[in-house]
Amino acid sequence: LHILPTDPMTLAPILRVAVAAPLYQTFDYLAPDGWDTATLRPGMRLRVPFGHGERCGLLLETADCALIETPLRYATAVLDTVPLLAPEDLALGRWAARYYGTPLGEVLLGTLPRRLRDGVPLPAPQGWQLTPVGFTVGDAQLRRAPRQHEIVEILRAHPGGVRLEAQQGGQSTTLRALAAKGWVQRCTVPAPSWAIAVATPLEHTLNAAQASALEALEAGLDGFHAYLLEGVTGSGKTEVYLRLLERALTLGRQALILVPEIALVSQLLRRMQRRSSVPIALLHSGLAEGERERAWLRARSGEARVVLGTRSAVFAPLPELGLIVVDEEHDSSYKQQEGFRYSARDLALVRARQRGCTVLLGSATPALETLRNVARGRYLHLGLPTRAGGAVPPRLALLNIRSVRLQAGLSPQLLDLMEERLGAGNQVLLFLNRRGYAPVLTCHDCGWVSGCRHCDARMTLHKAEQRLWCHHCGLQIAAPTRCPECASANLLGLGQGTEQLEEFLQERFPAYSLVRIDRDATRRSGALERGLAEIRSGAHRILLGTQMLAKGHHFPEVTLVGILDADQGLYSLNYRGSERMAQLLIQVAGRAGRAQKPGQVVIQTRHPDHPLLRVLIRHGYGAFARLALLEREQAELPPFSFQALLRAEAIDPQAPLAFLATAVALAHNLDDQGVEFWGPVPAPMGRLGGRTRAQLLLQSQHRDRLQALLGVWLPQLASLKGRGRIRWSIDVDPQEML
Ligand code: ADP
Ligand code: ZN
Ligand code: ZN
Repeated sequence: LHILPTDPMTLAPILRVAVAAPLYQTFDYLAPDGWDTATLRPGMRLRVPFGHGERCGLLLETADCALIETPLRYATAVLDTVPLLAPEDLALGRWAARYYGTPLGEVLLGTLPRRLRDGVPLPAPQGWQLTPVGFTVGDAQLRRAPRQHEIVEILRAHPGGVRLEAQQGGQSTTLRALAAKGWVQRCTVPAPSWAIAVATPLEHTLNAAQASALEALEAGLDGFHAYLLEGVTGSGKTEVYLRLLERALTLGRQALILVPEIALVSQLLRRMQRRSSVPIALLHSGLAEGERERAWLRARSGEARVVLGTRSAVFAPLPELGLIVVDEEHDSSYKQQEGFRYSARDLALVRARQRGCTVLLGSATPALETLRNVARGRYLHLGLPTRAGGAVPPRLALLNIRSVRLQAGLSPQLLDLMEERLGAGNQVLLFLNRRGYAPVLTCHDCGWVSGCRHCDARMTLHKAEQRLWCHHCGLQIAAPTRCPECASANLLGLGQGTEQLEEFLQERFPAYSLVRIDRDATRRSGALERGLAEIRSGAHRILLGTQMLAKGHHFPEVTLVGILDADQGLYSLNYRGSERMAQLLIQVAGRAGRAQKPGQVVIQTRHPDHPLLRVLIRHGYGAFARLALLEREQAELPPFSFQALLRAEAIDPQAPLAFLATAVALAHNLDDQGVEFWGPVPAPMGRLGGRTRAQLLLQSQHRDRLQALLGVWLPQLASLKGRGRIRWSIDVDPQEML
């Protein structure tokens, strides 16, 4: 043990630094030699020696004295003059790191734009102001420097600082000269106030339900309040968000709006831009790195008043945050499925509580967790029971297809209905959540099936490309023309994907233009936008797609929705399968008949007697949710218990189970009271991308028990010897069990 000198003259503060590394610890350094440590603030970046190289780290705190095991190294540089991250950003990161069992450095640095993470300096503040000395300068001293005089006059008129964009030539040299004399300095300038700039051409008068929801929401804008706005698709939720947003903006606050999909970002952006010119920063995964960085910086400086984005935008720095909206809060894309596995919806709530601001969750089909939180009084429930503008809700009907001969997955009844609706000039939407041509290629003679060589999965036939494609690991091979086992040419695709459905419909309805929206058809950049725009303009009669088409879009001319296969979710491995299925059905159904044209939804199923499906169709999502929650409660599943999933994978087929067994043994040595261990077991998809996978499920009735165990257990797992061969990860509140 080394003990730092206690002589007050030489006592140097210790800098506690987070570094992006898969290690559950922070790292201590001394300030660079001769650095004035009084200028250091948490949230500043430092360059620090790390291993044999150097890293960019974030200063978390300075501590006065410490017992240390090795002599401390010196940080090599301080990269910021002001903190990059505010205390509240650090607090959110700490909470998330602890809750999701992810190293703090990976959370804090991993959510930064790349160049900032690597230590690139912040752009200088945009404004200029007079220094205290500068204010004492008299006109006489500037008599022979008219340009300098001019600038000093401007700055005298703006004691809080002002942006001097290059309006006048030669300004930068003039400013540099003034700065050299110590008369002027750079400063941050508050963005222009948007208090009056929100011009709202009000499109509608709110209906009574909207008005009373808005009134409740506005009354709560002064502090932390959580609301669920539950309203069927088309009930006018977005209208309520926008009015509340405008109120928050006029109060001088910034707002954060989260949507589940990139396509919904542009849709909402268009709607916002029609109403006001407020500066909006977009943050989503489709941005180039430079765009992301600029958006992030505009949010941080307060210049952007609204951040609109997908999942990762929940970490955007917003110094004046006053409102968070999470649209389609039930959507599973809010959960990150790799690396740092956070839920943006749940972090939005944490962030609102930390910041003392309002968070509004909106959905037509709230997550069961959210409904449970409403029942416990944690969120205030606001409802929009009817469709805005008088549109009639769609009629839902189950269509039994047991022992019915299908053509490309379509029953004769559904085909007849399509014929009729298309003939009457309407749009028809068909939903099939399986892309590709056929889910599997098989040999009619010997029974060979197209399994993936790296996964326990079938390879999907994509006919246009003549390829077999594994949708799990991405492996692609040329589709064989003869069976690899018996050389028979009798190969057939089994089942239907969207590609096959498209081919069939083009033959069956040659007179009607068709558009397919799925991941394959929209791979090229801009293709999705174009497809959606064409749908809006009425260029297509038949819309065919996967869940990409199910989310949030307005297709008012659609009067018939056909759901080709409702049974996938009913018997899924994941206990969330039926909840997802119900949400998807209601969401897809919500695309229909949004204008004055009544819509009809036909759901093809082989299980028309399934109790959850029947309740959903007869009594709606609310009744479904009550029944599903009752089942969860009886089975002690979330939200009535809390789970974490430890996954392990390795090339060596024995290693994952062995690692997880060691993990269980380690946990039993700790305080694991009240935590149940299920497994280790092979993962449902036991092989993926050539690696064997296993998992261990932890479950507890008490969230804090589970959290406390993870807090000591994960660091021990991280320091296990020989873990190099194993990849493991922790998933708190897992959504997928695959
Ligand atoms: P949601 O977000 O619940 O799907 P929107 O806010 O998008 O609903 O509203 C659905 C449609 O109804 C939109 O075309 C919108 O312009 C319209 N709308 C919303 N509120 C009203 C209202 N009070 N009166 C008339 N039309 C409305
Ligand atoms: Zn064969
Ligand atoms: Zn595969």
